Amino acid sequence: QEYLAAIAADNPSLNAYITLDKERTLTEAKVADDRLAQGSASVLTGVPIAYKDIFCQQGWRSACASKMLDNFTAPYTATVVQNLLDAGMVTLGRTNMDEFAMGSTTETSHYGITKNPWQHDHVPGGSSGGSAAAVAARLAPAALGSDTGGSIRQPAAHCGITGLKPTYGVISRFGMVAYASSFDQAGPMAQTAEDCALLLNSMAGFDERDSTSIERDKEDYTRDLNRPLQGLKIGLPREFFGEGLDSQVHSSIEEVLNILKKQGAEIIDVSLPHTELSIPAYYVLASAEASTNLSRYDGVRYGYRAKEFSNLDEMYSKSRAEGFGEEVKRRIMIGTYVLSHGYYDAYYLKAQKLRRMVANDFQAVLNKCDIILAPVAPTAAPKLSSHSSDPVQMYLSDIYTVSLNLAGLPGIALPAGQTTSGLPVGVQLIGNYFAESRLLGIAHQIQ
Ligand code: GLN
Repeated sequence: QEYLAAIAADNPSLNAYITLDKERTLTEAKVADDRLAQGSASVLTGVPIAYKDIFCQQGWRSACASKMLDNFTAPYTATVVQNLLDAGMVTLGRTNMDEFAMGSTTETSHYGITKNPWQHDHVPGGSSGGSAAAVAARLAPAALGSDTGGSIRQPAAHCGITGLKPTYGVISRFGMVAYASSFDQAGPMAQTAEDCALLLNSMAGFDERDSTSIERDKEDYTRDLNRPLQGLKIGLPREFFGEGLDSQVHSSIEEVLNILKKQGAEIIDVSLPHTELSIPAYYVLASAEASTNLSRYDGVRYGYRAKEFSNLDEMYSKSRAEGFGEEVKRRIMIGTYVLSHGYYDAYYLKAQKLRRMVANDFQAVLNKCDIILAPVAPTAAPKLSSHSSDPVQMYLSDIYTVSLNLAGLPGIALPAGQTTSGLPVGVQLIGNYFAESRLLGIAHQIQ
């Protein structure tokens, strides 16, 4: 009731949620109450949560913030959402995002922009901007996001909350609308690393319905929360601290480093030499995968269909022309181009090779240190519509987040401080495969 009241008061100005269903929320809450009364509760039972619009949820409009799916009510529920429902969490609603998760500002949504709760003339980041804004504005204690090239970590940083992108394959992608399948990974967004650990405990697990889900033993992601940092070796990649990094972001990160040093961590200088190439590699590969994934929206089986057409081809093309927004069309065009005969070797194949080189760089560094510490974004949250005329400028701002997705590694973003104008600044910790509990523990010590 308390969260629904806060949503009613503040969501009209923020637009963090794009779908609400009060009756359904209260029914789920009642079930949780009964479960608590019966003593069959988990630690998450009765805790409300918000879901990014990318996750299918039975009976809810699951539109991925696109006109293409505006009329789509999911007939089934994503595994990760089902896991949280099984734990007893209560759905508050569905949060705004960039259309099909393509973007860094939550400005490409069919349902309008979301504002940064700290300063309404700034973006919340993206693509999970609705989830980050909802948690930051206390319209939800927790939310789900998805991270293909930074979409959990970057909005978490811009809104001053904590967000974890786990190792690729740790959380099932079944029922999460596909953008770039070899990158996409769901993750928790909350106020603290401790909350993220509790959420991850229920979110993670093998799922036979996702062919890239990893089969491994269940873990307790809270196990390292109080592990001392004495002797921890932290690598600072020099390519992440050069030109282009805002000085206020840099000094907030320095403060975090001081906290870590005081707790006995050792800082070493490392190099990730292919960092600059991770942006072109990511945008070639993610667009290529997007162009094939989005071919399913043909106006036939589900989703938007144009009203007027004279033959089948025209029905396809008009449905897609009218149903997709500009940024989505741009990605489909790029993706189709780099996959086409004659360009495949020059772009797609080359980008795949770069992907391997970026992953190798990380392994070389993670042989020398336990974790890598880095900025999340070059600046604090930009002003609304500052990237609208220049998509490449927006792509470049993903420089500190995409390389980790190319490698499939886990990363966490957490608050590091704020700018003189009061906007939050985040810091990122990157670990080796399956280092989630260690990352959560280090984040917990900083918080
Ligand atoms: N900004 C990146 C993109 O537009 C990342 C998005 C994401 O992680 N979903 O592709």
